[in-house]
Amino acid sequence: ANESGAAVVNDSVKTTDGRHVEVAANIGQPAELEPAAKRGADGVGLYRTEFLFLDRETPPSEDEQYEAIRQALDTFPDGRVVVRTLDIGGDKRIPYLDLPDEENPFLGERGIRRSLAPDSDLFATQLRALLRAAADGAGDLAIMFPLVATIEELDAALDALEAAAGLDDYDADAVDPEVGVMIETPSAVFMADELAARVDFLSIGTNDLTQYVMAADRENERVGDLHDPTHPGVLRAIQQTVTAAHAEDIWVGMCGEMAGDPDLTELLVGLGLDELSMSAVTIPEVKTAVSETSYSSASERGDRAQLAATRSEVHTTLDT
Ligand code: PEP
Ligand code: MG
Repeated sequence: ANESGAAVVNDSVKTTDGRHVEVAANIGQPAELEPAAKRGADGVGLYRTEFLFLDRETPPSEDEQYEAIRQALDTFPDGRVVVRTLDIGGDKRIPYLDLPDEENPFLGERGIRRSLAPDSDLFATQLRALLRAAADGAGDLAIMFPLVATIEELDAALDALEAAAGLDDYDADAVDPEVGVMIETPSAVFMADELAARVDFLSIGTNDLTQYVMAADRENERVGDLHDPTHPGVLRAIQQTVTAAHAEDIWVGMCGEMAGDPDLTELLVGLGLDELSMSAVTIPEVKTAVSETSYSSASERGDRAQLAATRSEVHTTLDT
C-alpha cells in the first residue's frame, strides 16, 4: 500500500468487463521516473520536457536531452514513453531564453507556436535527441506536440520531425515513434477528426482545454468554479475528441489533472478514454478504480453526463 492506502498494482489494468485502460505517469524530472515505476505506472503519458530547461543558465544540449529521454525509455522497457516537445510560454517562463513580453501570454506564442518560430532552433535539437534516444532506449517512444490549433501547425511539426529523422547519427530502422497531438484548444476539438486522420494518438490536456473552453484562467482562483472540467461544455469537448479518435482507430488519452482524480475515473472510462496519465501519487488509486469499473455501465453514465445541462446535473449523474 502507498500513503493513500491503495495497493500498488504493477500489472496493466482492465475493467470488470475486460476493457484495458492504460494508466501512465506525468513526469517533469528524471528523478520522478523510479517513483512512478514503483507506484505501478504502465509508462509515461506526459513527459513535460520544459522542466529539463529550468534551473539552469543555458538550454540543455542535445546529448543532455538524449540522456534524460533515454533514462525514461530504459525505466519502462515494456511501456510507452510519451514525450511532449517543449511547451514554454504562458505560465512556463524560461528566463535565459529572453522571450518577448506579451500582453496575453496564454493567448500568445506558447507551445508548438514557439517551437515553430523561425528564430528558434530548439525544436530541431530536441527532435534529434528524441530520435536518437528512441533508437537506443528500451521502451517505445511517442512524440507529442502541445497546444496545436491548426492542421498547418501539425504539418509543420511533422516536417520538422521528418527533417530530424534524416540525420545520420542513429539507426533509423530501429525508430518508428508514434506521433500525437495534445487536444488543448477549442480549435483542436473542432478539428479533431482531421488531426486524428494524420496522427497515431490524441491526448487531452484538460488543464488548458478547460481554460480555453470556459474562458477561465487556470491560475485565477476567482474563476476557479468555471475552471472545472466537469462542466458539460468541457465534457462534450472530451466526448467529441474521443469519438473523432476512435473513428480513425487511434487511441486517445488524457493527461490533464482531471485524469488523476479517482472520483472521476468511472466517468472517464465511460467516456471512452484509452489511457489516463497523472501525477504518480494517484496511480494506485486510479488503477484500483479502473479495476472496479464496469465499462458498460460507465459508458451509459458517461452518455448521461455529457447530456447534462449543468455541472450540478453532471455531479448528480456521477453520484447515482
Ligand atoms: C494540460 O494543459 O492539461 C496539460 C497536461 O499540460 P500543462 O498542464 O503542462 O499545460
Ligand atoms: Mg497544457
